[in-house]
Amino acid sequence: AKSNGRGRAEIFDAALRTELEARAKLEADIRAGLATDEFELHYQPVMSVATGELRSYEALIRWRHPEHGMIPPNDFIPAAEESLLICEIGRWVLDHATRQLAEWTRQDPHGHGHVTMAVNISARHLASTSLVDEVRHALEHSGLDAARLVLEITETVLLDEPTADAHLRDLRNLGVTVSLDDFGTGYTSIGQLQKLQVDTLKIDQSFLRSDDPATQALVQLMITAAHAFNLDVVAEGVETQEQLDRLATIGCELAQGYYLGRPQPAADTGVVAGTV
Ligand code: C2E
Ligand code: CA
Ligand code: CA
Ligand code: CA
Repeated sequence: AKSNGRGRAEIFDAALRTELEARAKLEADIRAGLATDEFELHYQPVMSVATGELRSYEALIRWRHPEHGMIPPNDFIPAAEESLLICEIGRWVLDHATRQLAEWTRQDPHGHGHVTMAVNISARHLASTSLVDEVRHALEHSGLDAARLVLEITETVLLDEPTADAHLRDLRNLGVTVSLDDFGTGYTSIGQLQKLQVDTLKIDQSFLRSDDPATQALVQLMITAAHAFNLDVVAEGVETQEQLDRLATIGCELAQGYYLGRPQPAADTGVVAGTV
């Protein structure tokens, strides 16, 4: 039994070593990818439910890997979030997304003058002392108005990070907007919404998938509460006309999803050409 235990420990060590090596390789690859411009942003529209007008874009990162092809964010963002690499990625995304919207606005002031750009910010990045300066720098460098940048954060960030609150206050003082992503999947209750320093709620796509009347009643409740607290609401994951009609009925003003537009490279967004 003793030798058996030893054997298992060795196997465990080997597995751990392999995992650590894989992690280290992924981190080195991401670093190299940042240096050689292997990342790109795709942009997904957010539309007004009532009018179909374009209101915003969400910037979503992809990795065009030289060997593995296009890698979706869920395959590398969680690993990057384990280290400070996520801050480097976040900085890259902030710079590119703000420059892209500034460029679109220069080319098409009428169509894009009021459109905003949403960027996903990870917990560790929000906790870092440099985020506020990085956001300020991205705005100055691109010439984009602060009011046109939206930072999407998930609710876990707000509850776990003591510094997040202070940083959010600084960011909102800059004039940027903050959006609570994936709402309904975490621990924030509707009652806590009032205390959070956010401007917009994004209702997680899982709620739209369900035809269960209780779930639909819950969505209605979230929207009513959000409006009572003066928050805008975006429904994520709209895939059918039926879902869009339902959102109109329950008074949800903004929607995002494959039915309205998939995430696309800047050059394919259709409105104007020109990528940065
Ligand atoms: P998220 O922020 O909740 O982004 C929405 C995800 O849902 C995107 O997946 C989008 O392509 C997908 N989606 C949009 N509409 C629909 C729909 O109608 N149906 C379905 N089934 N899916 C839809 P994506 O681009 O693969 O991103 C996944 C997650 O990776 C994001 O979830 C976000 O948490 C993270 N992520 C993406 N880009 C970045 C980034 O630049 N920085 C950070 N920190 N995280 C990012
Ligand atoms: Ca998001
Ligand atoms: Ca989301
Ligand atoms: Ca998410």
